[in-house]
Amino acid sequence: MAKHDYDLFVIGAGSGGVRAARVSAAHGAKVAIAEEHKVGGTCVIRGCVPKKLLVYGAHFAEDLQDARRFGWEVPACNFHWPTLRDNVLEEVARLEAAYTDTLRNHDVEVIKERAVVTGPNEVRLAGGRTVTARHILIATGARPVLPDFPGAQHGITSNEVFHLPELPRRVVIAGAGYIANEFAGIFHQFGSDVTLVNRSDIILRGYDETIRDRLLTISMMKGIQFRFHAAFRKVEKARDRTLTIHMTGCDPIEADMLLFAVGRSPNTEGLGLESAGVQIDDKGAVKVDEDNKSTCGSIYAVGDVTNRVQLTPVAIREGQAFADTVFGDKPTRVDYGSIPSAVFSHPPLAGVGMTEGEARNKLGSVKVYLSDFRAMKNVLAGRNERALYKLVVDGETDEVVGLHMIGPDSPEILQAAAIAVKAKLRKEDFDSVVALHPTMAEELVLMR
Ligand code: FAD
Repeated sequence: MAKHDYDLFVIGAGSGGVRAARVSAAHGAKVAIAEEHKVGGTCVIRGCVPKKLLVYGAHFAEDLQDARRFGWEVPACNFHWPTLRDNVLEEVARLEAAYTDTLRNHDVEVIKERAVVTGPNEVRLAGGRTVTARHILIATGARPVLPDFPGAQHGITSNEVFHLPELPRRVVIAGAGYIANEFAGIFHQFGSDVTLVNRSDIILRGYDETIRDRLLTISMMKGIQFRFHAAFRKVEKARDRTLTIHMTGCDPIEADMLLFAVGRSPNTEGLGLESAGVQIDDKGAVKVDEDNKSTCGSIYAVGDVTNRVQLTPVAIREGQAFADTVFGDKPTRVDYGSIPSAVFSHPPLAGVGMTEGEARNKLGSVKVYLSDFRAMKNVLAGRNERALYKLVVDGETDEVVGLHMIGPDSPEILQAAAIAVKAKLRKEDFDSVVALHPTMAEELVLMR
């Protein structure tokens, strides 16, 4: 008789957990996965996927306007939020079913319950059942941080934003990271009056400074308002549901929706990790080594709960590396170098490698190449919105160590160009490629 009920018990069916469960089962392991909310996790259910669909929906506002300059007779158009919301939620439900099917087709037992650790090889399910496993994988992700001040309960987070009964006329967004800037763009395009409130005057910390500044300029030009150096004091809710938001450093603002996008914290609370000697750091993240192993030999962790790089493709790679290492007899480690990332703002931006600031701090000599241009489509549309591409080059070796861009389709272009940065190609290699004309991407090989 087997010593344990399962070879692997995964807690959390998000990006990392699903990949780890599926691949471990394909390697021959007996696997179960527990999910307390919906199979697919943050990315599929209330993150990347529904967000990107809203970004597409939002973009029609400008496309329909610009179409007139391209000869189309566009009658006055109205946006109907419930239609987009319901279509997006329908697509999310389809994906949830597809993820569940994939797991079951790989003989993974899907348990739709909350699970907590009760020992190095033991898990207790919300229904009361206790099961044992040779290995346990913590893939519980992260959750939005809710600030603590009087009236904060009147605000919502990205968990609720996809389900709004109606489109809010006045939106206040707390935070200045990628989620805050993406939703600022989305609601602004839908026609809401948007104000972004932040403690400092820096948006998108970690992204290249010139690119961030360009987004700020364009966002302000479009009409998104910013309140910097402002801290929330209290929020009052009137009978008609109007929120009055009081802050230090600026006048109160009235809003119909307050969205908190002030960070995400790892889901380790109440998970019973102490029962197995699994240590967490001061941010609540599970401490793991390069092989995703925690301080308990039989327990591993991948994805946002480890707070390394909170992105879906990274969680997926970690899940895959875990499965290949532990069950596939193929030791694999994730390479965290040159991970591309994007912000699906309006316009979007993307980057890979060192920012100019990082390169100047790290390398002896740095050369920077810029292309500041108006996309052809924007020129004809009369849209005064300039794109900006930046190459950061090691002055000694000519290696392109960073690539940052803002403008239409930047994330699509950057994904391909990131291969060149990852491959450590030199500026000379970029220059040797003949331009593909007329495109925006040709700027990448024309910077001199
Ligand atoms: P998750 O996908 O969060 O999955 C964890 C799962 O565990 C959840 O389903 C949760 O319900 C479940 N769970 C937690 N505790 C328990 C328990 N005790 N028992 C059972 N189940 C449990 N990333 C990108 O790469 N690109 C993007 O464009 C992007 N956009 C985003 C937009 C938003 C609004 C948000 C919030 C996130 C976005 N992300 C994006 C980040 C991305 O969603 C995460 O990095 C990714 O989902 C992490 O995967 P994970 O497997 O670690 O955790």
